[in-house]
Amino acid sequence: MRKSFVLLLIATLSMGTLAGCSSSDSSSSSSSTPAPSASSASSDGSGGSFVDEYGSPTGVVFPLDNAMTYRFHYHARDMYVFDPSWPVFQEMAEITNISLVNTGNIVGTNSVEQFQLQAVDGFPDDLYGGNNITTYFMEYGPDGAFYALNDYWDYLPNFRAYLDDNPDVEAVITAYDGNIYHIPYIQDGDTARTWFIRMDWLDNLGLEVPTTVQELEDVLIAFRDDDPNGNGLKDEIPYFNDKYTEMMRLVNLWDARCYGQDASTERVIPREDGTVYHAWTADEFKTGIYNISRWYDMGLIDKEIFTKGNAARREYLPGDIGGVTHEWVASTSAYNDTAGIDGFHFGVFAPPITENGNQWEEHSRLKVRPDGWAVSHNCKNPEELFAYMDYFFSDYGRIISNYGIEGISYELVDGHPTFTEEVLNGDVAVNTYLESEIGAQLKHGYWMDYDYEYQWTHEVGRAGVDLYNEGDYGVLQMPPLSMTEDQKNVIDNTRANLVAYQDEMTMRWIMGDPDLVYAEWDTYLAECEKLGISQLVNAYQEAYTTYLEIAEQ
Ligand code: CA
Repeated sequence: MRKSFVLLLIATLSMGTLAGCSSSDSSSSSSSTPAPSASSASSDGSGGSFVDEYGSPTGVVFPLDNAMTYRFHYHARDMYVFDPSWPVFQEMAEITNISLVNTGNIVGTNSVEQFQLQAVDGFPDDLYGGNNITTYFMEYGPDGAFYALNDYWDYLPNFRAYLDDNPDVEAVITAYDGNIYHIPYIQDGDTARTWFIRMDWLDNLGLEVPTTVQELEDVLIAFRDDDPNGNGLKDEIPYFNDKYTEMMRLVNLWDARCYGQDASTERVIPREDGTVYHAWTADEFKTGIYNISRWYDMGLIDKEIFTKGNAARREYLPGDIGGVTHEWVASTSAYNDTAGIDGFHFGVFAPPITENGNQWEEHSRLKVRPDGWAVSHNCKNPEELFAYMDYFFSDYGRIISNYGIEGISYELVDGHPTFTEEVLNGDVAVNTYLESEIGAQLKHGYWMDYDYEYQWTHEVGRAGVDLYNEGDYGVLQMPPLSMTEDQKNVIDNTRANLVAYQDEMTMRWIMGDPDLVYAEWDTYLAECEKLGISQLVNAYQEAYTTYLEIAEQ
């Protein structure tokens, strides 16, 4: 597979020379980049780079005089392939005179596998997009499979301007060879998971919302013992989670970090000073696991936490037995409408203050998702295609990629796109409807507008988002790092085994006697060392240092 990319690279290099492709300087100097509203010629000698009223460069004037068509392989979320009849892409065809045709197939299968099958064939289509694939763009791009954006900045003025304002995003999407090969899906808004508690249960027992970890423990004990659901049975589950990996974040209550970002295998944490460390061997993590084990023994944590799978919210909330969780704010607050229990109020509360006086929330939304799109080197006319992709970063492009089309999915209210009642109160969830019927909120390269989600979040969830935004409880996240071949090898050789071993040990400690944590901690550290934890952390440190160098330029 690798060999075919080398051949491909040679072929496309000579093609690029013949076609007189613009600047071959790949150092992506941002100073020579035209801003979207600028009307100055570019400095690379490739000709004028004026920006028209649509925010696209006059090198490519939309709508094109002659219609163009590109082959688009889009497979996302194991569910969707591209549908050219989606209103957003009909609108795009009107604006640009460019149409995309679908080449993805087999709906309902693994999207990443579908993408990888294309790699075997050398990415024969023009454009590739989907979710969880951008690491492959950064891996195959340097081998010649995809065009480097930095050779085409003249056709990407809106995206280039976005990167100039957001060097942290540029750092995340820069491949190890210094080039950028894809436009990512960029998220907006920080709040992700928050704390939830049955406010009506607190009322039933005459209790206050807990503000400290000790008060939280006292409330969980009361939920366990004092029949807050009033059915005469001791059937309450004080604390529960949809995933046990999220329950592990309870170590946060003892000032230990658990995950560097959303993924539960990302356990290396960045510090403010630029160094990194492994969360699961830190001293405070030992204290945290000890206390989780103690809570589990006390019956404060769901006894089925390790076996329940994803069904906890779905069963325990309408079942009137779940008391406290830490989960996604939008989907969890929606249970206030659907639980079907009189007086049900599952409200958001601020992160409990730790014994050391700290108040913080570990989980926040990653700015850059590993979703996006890239142009294959088999594409004959990348200029127009890049201009088309760039359009989604213009003001109107951002509106249609988030809200769809005026009169169909939104109306302008006081100049602001506002979803129609049909969208907000339809039979299908808002995000599903936009994705499957409208062609908005697709996992290609665009910039999310958080207000799209806020509009359909339950009022309880909105209050929670406001509370967490005001509190500013966030901590540093580990960005998705672009790894060199060597760093990637280290991680491939160590991480999975380490994660498996750490999961096995912590599960054993939580279900067993809490004192086991202290008895076995040193043996655990030694085994982590044997499994290569120091090499893993070093690889992260190198990649994170490179990231910081680009982000702080
Ligand atoms: Ca009860």
